[in-house]
Amino acid sequence: MLLPLVMFACSPDPSPALLLAVDRDEDGEYRVAPRPIPELSDAQHMEGSLGHGYRGGRIAIELFSDDMGIRYDEGGRMDLDYDVIDDVAIPMDEDGLVLWTYYHTLSQVRADLNGLGVDTEPVWPIDFAYQPAFVGMDFTSGENAAYLGSGVHLFILLPDALPAVLPLAANPGVIRHEFGHALFNVLTAGDAYALAPYDESEDPNVTSKVRALNEGFADMIATLTLDDNDFFDLSLPSVTNRDVAADAVADATMYPENAEAYDPYALGTVYASFAWDLRELTSAEEAVVLVVAAVDAWSAEAAWDDTDRWAELLLERMTPTLLLSFFLGGGGVAFAIEGAEHSTAGLQLSAFALQTPARHAIVPSLGVWASYTPRPWGLTGELSLTRRAKSNDFYGVSTQLMRASAVAELAMGTRPMTVHLGVGPALTVSSALTEWGETDSERVTRADLGLRARVALDGPLGERLAWSWQVGAASRGVYNWDYDLGAGIGVQW
Ligand SMILES: [Zn+2]
Repeated sequence: MLLPLVMFACSPDPSPALLLAVDRDEDGEYRVAPRPIPELSDAQHMEGSLGHGYRGGRIAIELFSDDMGIRYDEGGRMDLDYDVIDDVAIPMDEDGLVLWTYYHTLSQVRADLNGLGVDTEPVWPIDFAYQPAFVGMDFTSGENAAYLGSGVHLFILLPDALPAVLPLAANPGVIRHEFGHALFNVLTAGDAYALAPYDESEDPNVTSKVRALNEGFADMIATLTLDDNDFFDLSLPSVTNRDVAADAVADATMYPENAEAYDPYALGTVYASFAWDLRELTSAEEAVVLVVAAVDAWSAEAAWDDTDRWAELLLERMTPTLLLSFFLGGGGVAFAIEGAEHSTAGLQLSAFALQTPARHAIVPSLGVWASYTPRPWGLTGELSLTRRAKSNDFYGVSTQLMRASAVAELAMGTRPMTVHLGVGPALTVSSALTEWGETDSERVTRADLGLRARVALDGPLGERLAWSWQVGAASRGVYNWDYDLGAGIGVQW
């Protein structure tokens, strides 16, 4: 009588309808709740179409080999203790809760992204090692869940190094973050088991920069698919620097060229908070589709040494309306990437609406500009030349108007577009030649000091060129106001 009972207890239903897992509810709260995990065909041994789990095993990192090869020597088969009560699998220890949360989270992120048209299938299946041992490297000191790329394609789940409220390996945000690394690897290396091209770069700065974008992308996947800007708070409330809703702004020290001990998370959080700004203007769903598409495009360009290019490609994917609201909404102001510091100079062709005693006359104008933009401030100098002439049988009047202005500006936005809002003094020199009769003529010249205000947009055209567009007004003295609308092309450096 006892034996069948014991046998029964040892072999619970391998594919229960529901399993307990940590998940985010409709109301946004994280709690443990019964969840279906359709891909998990064997809950006891943690096997299913998303990958198989191994208990223990050894990860050997050959630090001194040419390719710094990482190898996983498979551990034992997983064997979870649980019982099924009213169709719900109840784990008998924390491991069950951690592992089902892990598998459920992968199942969810797969459904979420595939539902949005982001193809996650190349990632699957991905095996995982539960609390493996490490040989050749102290990996456990600060890690708790990780994705091993570089041809290994494996998740590892470790006990927490620091006491956490919720173990990081059971934190849906952390698991989605690690999945984000796997997706990044597939998007950039082209295949789950391929070695990523940037990993083979001779330049360590390239690898560091890509790591920063990789960390940022992993946070974007976690925050956007959960629609939670600070999933770390669940596990480690004391960690506050990963909240992507706080406006993280890049500075020069966040780039590996200028850092001694490089921290990829700082720049990564800048990228992720940039994506969160986009989420605030649209929706988490729309934002995640756009950030994945931008990584795809960045990877197609193989612009490994220019991760800011990813941000440009993201902006290129935004509709004009969205782009405008992005700048007006302040998203661009907060995000002043290092590479966005630039200066431009060039030729501008404009239409001037010149105030005349009777009305405004529309005349073409040729100008030059030079703009120095250290952000968030800028200084722009402009020089423009306009000619207006009229003659008939009785007289001829030809007026040249030269205007020089120096405008102090607020410069905001991000590459590929900078918005300039500026105001400053303008000096207009007008010189008119009036002719009448057979030989009579007189030249009148005057100078008027006034005010200049303009709104301009500019951005790069390839590596060296720049485009510019502006609308502005300038006064000659107090009462005469001229308006202009122009577009230009120049160089940037
Ligand atoms: Zn990471």
